[in-house]
Amino acid sequence: MTPDTADLAARLAAVRRRIAEAATAADRAPGEVRLLLATKTQDARAVRAAIGAGATLIGENRVQELVTKGPELTDLSPTVHLIGHLQSNKVNAALPWVTCVQSIDTLAIAGRLSRRVTALDTELEVMVQVNVSGEDSKHGVDPVDAAGLATAVAALPGLRLTGFMTIGAPADRGAAVRDGFRRLREVRDAVTGSGEPGTQGAHELSMGMSGDLESAVAEGSTMVRVGSAVFGARPR
Ligand SMILES: *Cc1c(COP(=O)(O)O)cnc(C)c1O
Repeated sequence: MTPDTADLAARLAAVRRRIAEAATAADRAPGEVRLLLATKTQDARAVRAAIGAGATLIGENRVQELVTKGPELTDLSPTVHLIGHLQSNKVNAALPWVTCVQSIDTLAIAGRLSRRVTALDTELEVMVQVNVSGEDSKHGVDPVDAAGLATAVAALPGLRLTGFMTIGAPADRGAAVRDGFRRLREVRDAVTGSGEPGTQGAHELSMGMSGDLESAVAEGSTMVRVGSAVFGARPR
């Protein structure tokens, strides 16, 4: 069932309120934190309704969903980021639909993207995904290797390193959630302060989801990725 635009607008407003309150509590300006709407499993009609309700920044997890929904959204020109794992054989299919790939976790995939965008004479924003929680099931580079990977990625032609992304630890791990977000901020600060070519602008911290955005904003998030708080729980 396609969610109602008025409903979506109310839920988006509620999420924006949560962001604003968390920012204010952390002595930050609410405008420092952007809202990316995570649209995995939602069909193009639902995404259109959400854009109609005011969403401008969209995150997709799967290349297949990018390719099927992309053509149905072009007239609305949303900004779309890839926030899920990217396999090297899907690079060519993904590129026409995204301005940023947030899920870079190996130099191999970054190199592949670099070669492709260079051949197309375009540019691509990228973020390095860091696994701050140590959960095996999650993609992302180990925090100790994150600065090295980011520096290498930043040096590749055609790619612009804009920051770092992480998926927080599960809520039942308590303080580990916020510790992980702090860890990502420390990685970001080390890289942007390193003086290495291409790293200076890598200020984005894409962290915080429906269940943990307050902790993420408290630790410096510049972009929260929210799905279920807007669309409702996903079927499992
Ligand atoms: C699904 C997803 C989100 C949004 O999660 P919610 O809990 O639904 O807000 C954010 N980031 C990534 C990478 C996701 O896969």
